[in-house]
Amino acid sequence: MNYTGVREVEVVVIGAGQAGLAAAFHLRRAGHEPDRDFVVLDHSPRPGGAWQFRWPTLTYDKVHGMHALPGMTLTDADPQRPSSEVIGGYFDSYEQTFGLRVHRPVSVLAVREGGGGPPWTEPVGALGGKRLRVETSEGDYATRALINATGTWDRPFWPRFPGQETFGGRQLHSAQYDGPERFRGARVVVVGGGTSAVQQLMEIAPVAAATTWVTRRPPVFREGPFGEEQGRAAVALVEERVRQGLPPRSVVSVTGLPMTEAIRRARESGVLERLPLFERLTPTGVVWADGRTVEADVILYATGFRAAIDHLAPLRLREPGGGIRMEGTRTLRDARVHLVGYGPSASTIGANRAGRAAVRDIRRLLAADHQLSYAEDALADSRAS
Ligand SMILES: Cc1cc2nc3c(=O)[nH]c(=O)nc-3n(C[C@H](O)[C@H](O)[C@H](O)COP(=O)(O)OP(=O)(O)OC[C@H]3O[C@@H](n4cnc5c(N)ncnc54)[C@H](O)[C@@H]3O)c2cc1C
Repeated sequence: MNYTGVREVEVVVIGAGQAGLAAAFHLRRAGHEPDRDFVVLDHSPRPGGAWQFRWPTLTYDKVHGMHALPGMTLTDADPQRPSSEVIGGYFDSYEQTFGLRVHRPVSVLAVREGGGGPPWTEPVGALGGKRLRVETSEGDYATRALINATGTWDRPFWPRFPGQETFGGRQLHSAQYDGPERFRGARVVVVGGGTSAVQQLMEIAPVAAATTWVTRRPPVFREGPFGEEQGRAAVALVEERVRQGLPPRSVVSVTGLPMTEAIRRARESGVLERLPLFERLTPTGVVWADGRTVEADVILYATGFRAAIDHLAPLRLREPGGGIRMEGTRTLRDARVHLVGYGPSASTIGANRAGRAAVRDIRRLLAADHQLSYAEDALADSRAS
């Protein structure tokens, strides 16, 4: 800590979900000490990243393709237990096993250029700029590099429809869903074409008075396995958008919905009959442009999430298209800033790879930076003597 009370570190990792823990693991393995060289900050109350908030009926057997964190497998998981408990417990022992010392609950409020102030804002060598100032609920950090791993859970996306404020029933987002019980006997409209929409709809349908499913585009159900080749193709599509400076699209828009036995049964029973998006809400339901109406007590928006990166706004990383252009995990506008679990790496396997890539890149930058600092010190010494 310097005399202004600001803690100086080499790297700040924001977020202790899959992406943040993978990055912390690789930092540690490369010899960086937690709390001395780097810190991991997370504003959730417990280990587990966003998994800790997922609804209790999302049991572990309903999770598709959860990849273990690097260096420690997830063994003997009871498939009937909520994934929030299984993965929360796994992340907890992971943090302890590798001594990652996650600071929680700590909110990162803003990250900005350190410039214009006390000595810790001095330019730092090869990074071509100053330290970044990370403002948090436990005080400020001055860091040479930043790994942002804040996921999307904190930014549920709510679509806007005319008449939303007049609707007399309940409107909620899939992030607030806590199982089907509260929908018993209700007429429910589910909005959205992703996996959450389908899973929640299938749980609600047996207890609700009626369900209606609406999606913007006709859903694409994917038959057959989703192997490495399909995964690579999906990632390439998201990468292309990011390259163009556009915000990344939802995962399902590039992967399609996996066809499972439960989905096949639900389709046969008519639960997954889909309608296009309605035009507006009324006090008692929804209306389409052709005059068709459906009466409803609840509207459930399973409409996805956006990247939770508002705290990076002072760095002005966004392109005019609204996205952030990147080279690997490094943002093009600021070589000190890496986004992991963002866009092409927004999956458990992608987050693992991104964590490793970000650390490799940052270590190169830090090494170059230190060399330059030594050279500058030597030059200053020779001038002084
Ligand atoms: C319902 C659901 C099911 C999914 N199932 C799968 C699946 O089966 N397989 C798969 O590969 N992917 C799945 N995904 C995608 C999955 O969420 C990601 O692959 C991965 O778990 C995300 O990890 P993450 O570390 O990027 O984010 P998160 O797990 O969201 O972690 C981000 C962390 O950052 C913290 N944070 C955020 N903002 C701040 C801030 N300002 N200050 C401090 N801390 C902050 C949060 O508290 C959180 O702990 C699913 C997503 C959803 C919504």
